[in-house]
Amino acid sequence: MKSLNDFARVPLAILPTPIQKLENISRILGTNVWIKRDDMTGIGLGGNKVRKLEFLLAEAKAQGAEVVFTTGGAQSNHAMLTAACAKKLGMTPILILKKRGVTERKGNQLLEYLMDTDVRFMDTDSYDDIYAEMDRVGKELGRPYYKIPCGGSNALGALGYVACVKEIADSGMHFDYLICAEGSGGTHAGVALGAKLFMPGTRTVGVMVDSDPFDVITPGIMRGAAELLQADVEIGPGDVHLLNMCGPGYAIPSKEGNAAIRMMAENEGLFLDPVYTGKAFAGLIKLAREGTFRPEDNVLFLYSGGAGGLFAVDVELP
Ligand SMILES: *Cc1c(COP(=O)(O)O)cnc(C)c1O
Repeated sequence: MKSLNDFARVPLAILPTPIQKLENISRILGTNVWIKRDDMTGIGLGGNKVRKLEFLLAEAKAQGAEVVFTTGGAQSNHAMLTAACAKKLGMTPILILKKRGVTERKGNQLLEYLMDTDVRFMDTDSYDDIYAEMDRVGKELGRPYYKIPCGGSNALGALGYVACVKEIADSGMHFDYLICAEGSGGTHAGVALGAKLFMPGTRTVGVMVDSDPFDVITPGIMRGAAELLQADVEIGPGDVHLLNMCGPGYAIPSKEGNAAIRMMAENEGLFLDPVYTGKAFAGLIKLAREGTFRPEDNVLFLYSGGAGGLFAVDVELP
């Protein structure tokens, strides 16, 4: 098997991110709840995409790209962080976003405006249309370009989360569970593969905040990442544990997600977002209330960022 160090990586994130115990929430939920502070990755407003971009933008640089394309919804944290990281590396980001969600100058749209980012909207539900548009614009510009898929969720991007699990394993702490949000699948794929390789005693759970078929998507990305690493592992359906907390739909706040945002804010002084981390933490609360965790268990929640979205969507508390 290859080492993660065999892959080119641009140092963008401040690592390792801290792991902290949530004392008040542990008391409320009757188990030991810990949080991995990937909201503190140190660029933009932080978040999980920075770890993926360390690998993806290294490949872009190695290929001589001057322009970096990516996509997502109008309030994509990934698109905003790609713009921030590409600009820092002297490349030109062009975001071709689905005209879905809050397109006004709020939340991540405001941050992209502050960075003077080239943002274009396409009124389509198909990413294939958008990837074709990237090729059209790239050729028209006549400059070398690199395309990053939605969420940075391909095999190479997922290595960022294999590396994150290695980082957790290297801390010497043991966790019975590791729970993360699942929006395009790359984070959970990296986490699940990382656990298989470096923390086999930890069960990972991907909390779905979108209703795509992650039972197929996630193992697919895992296999791709395992292949890059030349890791001798079989990936089967038993490697991916999913919990659907999407509620009324992707990027539409849910009652459970909003209650989780309130619980975290009033007890720990941390702000989850309505699109990803609020719904993901609602999944952790649900599992705790169903008696999944023993009192002595250590449950680690991946706090994957998302602050930008908090200022774009109205959160109605019960
Ligand atoms: C993108 C994102 C996720 C989900 O990660 P995927 O790799 O897309 O599944 C979770 N939390 C936040 C804040 C995100 O921006």
